[in-house]
Amino acid sequence: MSLIVQKYGGTSVADAGRIMNVARRIVGTKMSGNDVVVVVSAMGDTTDDLLKLAHQITPKPSTRELDVLLSTGEMVSSTLLAMALKTMGYEAISLSGLQAGIKTTNNFTRALILDIDPQRILAELQAGKIVIVAGFQGVTEQMDITTLGRGGSDTTAVALAARLGADSCVRYTDTEGIYTADPRIVPDATQLKELTYEEMLELSVYGSKVVHPRAIELAEYYNMPLRVASSFTNNPGTLIHGGEKLEVRNKVTAISHDMNVAKVTILGIPDTPGIAAAVFVPLADAGISVDTIVQNASINNMADLTFTITEDDLEKATAIVNQVASKLNAREVLTDTHIGKVSVIGSSMLNGPGYASTFFNSLADANINIELISTSEIRITVIVKEDKVLDAVRVLHSAFRLNEA
Ligand code: ADP
Ligand code: ASP
Ligand code: MG
Repeated sequence: MSLIVQKYGGTSVADAGRIMNVARRIVGTKMSGNDVVVVVSAMGDTTDDLLKLAHQITPKPSTRELDVLLSTGEMVSSTLLAMALKTMGYEAISLSGLQAGIKTTNNFTRALILDIDPQRILAELQAGKIVIVAGFQGVTEQMDITTLGRGGSDTTAVALAARLGADSCVRYTDTEGIYTADPRIVPDATQLKELTYEEMLELSVYGSKVVHPRAIELAEYYNMPLRVASSFTNNPGTLIHGGEKLEVRNKVTAISHDMNVAKVTILGIPDTPGIAAAVFVPLADAGISVDTIVQNASINNMADLTFTITEDDLEKATAIVNQVASKLNAREVLTDTHIGKVSVIGSSMLNGPGYASTFFNSLADANINIELISTSEIRITVIVKEDKVLDAVRVLHSAFRLNEA
């Protein structure tokens, strides 16, 4: 008997009808002779709604209370799904993160999974039940409820699949799989049959929120292939795995974009050793990750330092940077949120000639100005004005002929 871990996203369980649809699909998997563990997200926009509610009470809610509040979203969907399965005549049980033995660190709203005690889940499977686990949550040693960060149910699913030694792990969503660009933005984007962990990780970190980045890191670490497929059709979807790609037709795999970006510039700082550390160490200590960094050539030993962060971190980052800037006697700190990031991703892309020229030529032809550039071995990223982001995605998608992939 195989053990299959399935994860259903918020759109797949957005209302009672969709929960019944998901239940029917789970029954199909169970009927084929498999043990099934299901991880669910909260219904539709529940998490956003709960967040809004908390912010109507206070602009800075206690993160401990917030995590208990947010965790209820997944409790609602998991219990309803268990009820749906029972009405169909199947033994099913819902488990919260705590009941499922998911132990985490105590940094609320972005906790990390430390360990999973699988005993309860294994006992329920042994008893023939379908186990439904509330995603996105766990519990600290002090028995406080935590959440794993937005989109964290994917991480719950992969962590469970790895810990239980599952035979397969599938993340069901509202698209047929991973596409060459967000299909909502590029209608002729094509569905990929497969991509590597590395490519998927860059795609996710650089804006394609369809799979949580930490889920992919875990999948890679445990070499747990992850399939992304639709909860509405029977298309096999896209396999994310660690092997060589079977068909390398196009070295560019996909384009991602991200509007949740802010730029911080410190003007007129002394160009001496230790300055970058003075800026980036306190940001790191505050849990803020910094992306594209550019320091311009110095004039009269004074330089300008520019970097990007997620827009959500801007308030916290500005407070820190202002403090550092005044200690360093910097001239001014500027911020800009009207920017976005566009990235082209493909394994070994930068080894091949011509990719950078196609990239920059096509943006120049479309009159799209580039503010910052960063690259990795498998990615080229540019920062452009927010109102040019979608144009840039479409231009690059066609320049790299991804509609023919
Ligand atoms: P779920 O409710 O299943 O968690 P999400 O809305 O979080 O679903 O993620 C699925 C959405 O991600 C899709 O509807 C799609 O618009 C978007 N998306 C962005 N980039 C991609 C991509 N490259 N491939 C597929 N979907 C993408
Ligand atoms: N419900 C949470 C969120 O919206 C977690 C998830 O869906 O994965 O971020
Ligand atoms: Mg989601």
